[in-house]
Amino acid sequence: MTNKPYDDGNIFAKILRGEVPSHKIYEDAETFAFMDIMPRGDGHCLVIPKKPARNILDVDPDSLRAVMITVQKLSRAVMKAFNADGVTIQQFNEPAGGQVVFHLHFHILPRFEGVQLRPHTGEMADQAVLAANAEKIRKALAEF
Ligand code: AMP
Repeated sequence: MTNKPYDDGNIFAKILRGEVPSHKIYEDAETFAFMDIMPRGDGHCLVIPKKPARNILDVDPDSLRAVMITVQKLSRAVMKAFNADGVTIQQFNEPAGGQVVFHLHFHILPRFEGVQLRPHTGEMADQAVLAANAEKIRKALAEF
């Protein structure tokens, strides 16, 4: 288990506290889902627990269970919203594992035959595009 403490100054903690805006897709008592601001593909979104957890190594099992249920909901919703051919789930732990933001999160990436993921450019997507994609996913969720 990691011995690194949770730092509530991370950007996702700020989003949960409403201090930083996000394109929210879904929320329940234990989880929150929103658009990734630098999407590696159209519809790239993130699911996080509300309860503080640095990553997979320290997350409370009940919180992880709730997150995975939301990951499944969102996976089904992005498949429908974007008429996708598949979905990739990614999750990184600690810097050596590729983690950059230290609040547990799962990436949900709708995938299309023959289309590669875009590289991490560090550039933010157009806010109007993110808003429109969030709306598409919310609509698909509401139709289940
Ligand atoms: P990683 O920790 O490697 O999974 O990377 C963090 C992810 O969070 C990247 O895909 C970023 O594009 C994304 N990200 C960083 N800041 C924000 C933000 N303010 N809103 C939405 N997504 C973000």
